[in-house]
Amino acid sequence: MRTGSATASEDFEPPALGEPYLLTPGPLTTAYAVKQTMLRDWGSWDGDFRAMTADLRRRLLALTGDTKSEFDCVPMQGSGSFCVEAMLGSFVPRDGKVLVLANGAYGLRAAQTMQYLGRAHTLLDKGDYLPPRGDEVAAILDADPAITHVIAIHCETSSGILNPVAEISKAVYSRGRKLLIDSMSAFGAIPLDINDIRYEAMVSSANKCIEGVPGFGFVIARKSELEAAKGRSHSLSLDVHAQWAAMEKTGQWRFTPPTHVVAAFLEALRIHEAEGGVAGRGARYERNRDVMVAGMRALGFETLLSDRWLSPIIVTFFCPAHANFAFDRFYELMKEKGFIIYPGKLTVVESFRIGCIGRMDEHVMRRVVDAAGRSLAEMNVPDAAPPRTALDERAKLAA
Ligand SMILES: *Cc1c(COP(=O)(O)O)cnc(C)c1O
Repeated sequence: MRTGSATASEDFEPPALGEPYLLTPGPLTTAYAVKQTMLRDWGSWDGDFRAMTADLRRRLLALTGDTKSEFDCVPMQGSGSFCVEAMLGSFVPRDGKVLVLANGAYGLRAAQTMQYLGRAHTLLDKGDYLPPRGDEVAAILDADPAITHVIAIHCETSSGILNPVAEISKAVYSRGRKLLIDSMSAFGAIPLDINDIRYEAMVSSANKCIEGVPGFGFVIARKSELEAAKGRSHSLSLDVHAQWAAMEKTGQWRFTPPTHVVAAFLEALRIHEAEGGVAGRGARYERNRDVMVAGMRALGFETLLSDRWLSPIIVTFFCPAHANFAFDRFYELMKEKGFIIYPGKLTVVESFRIGCIGRMDEHVMRRVVDAAGRSLAEMNVPDAAPPRTALDERAKLAA
């Protein structure tokens, strides 16, 4: 039996009998101890639960390096997209204008959110994966003085690219504008220290790098921005200021909190801390990526991105060119072997993704590679090399 102790040495054995590993960017494979924490009910008004909410906010804030107490953390019910919408609707004034930096589905979703909000925005769309660069951002800001805010995606999960947020932040603040960051799939594993990278607010959610279960997200924002957000939101339930003010006053969530998810998340945060915080978690994911990418390349697979842009979160591979390869079959063969992989999101060439996040280590990743090799053999695909068009596509991404 498992012990469920929150130590760094806790095993990385399969989640439970017959349950596959989720090689997906959330929901992801969680520790047994995290799941076990949900076997009890909590009263949302009770002091014990209020203390849990306070602990959660304090622990998350500590991950940003907020030593001067300039920021605060506001958890919000719902999935990550609810938080992005809450952030945009609360921090962008109704007469503000946002530059949305997109290189994949989540950037485009932020632009779509602005459309729903009915607030002015302009889109820099770099296509499937090319990164938005600081000099491009600076040029757009110079040409359009009406832009007040920029939203950047930290790790664009649709390709797995790690966008250059430090460079973008410099461009934004050198032009006197404000930066908002969707760090959904990066926060907790990739540093986003406010002493190193300036921003006004960022969002992430429970079911990504902290390795909790889905059910809420959180906004970490400068207190002055939280105060300025009063009365700005388009939505009652997504009003970050109102949620913050209520939590400060009563210690409670305004509306029914996902109590079990919060309890599980606190356990996930304890495990995160025991693993060495952001640095420890990031190091395990990097090792996961390095072992998995090296193994897949040895099988002949090619990554969409060059090493410089590969995040330790999720990696996009081109589908092999061989006529016997079919993604759906590959997916089923991998699932039979205990691994759920993820379809790709590229518009130009066929691809699939393998996540590096969740309760797994390099030993698990070796088994993933082994399963991929056996699946290819079962499909009679002797060579995993991608089509020429895929490599031509990749050549667009200059190192
Ligand atoms: C997961 C994710 C989101 C939120 O997606 P939900 O399905 O709403 O949880 C937003 N942005 C990025 C970059 C993500 O990876």
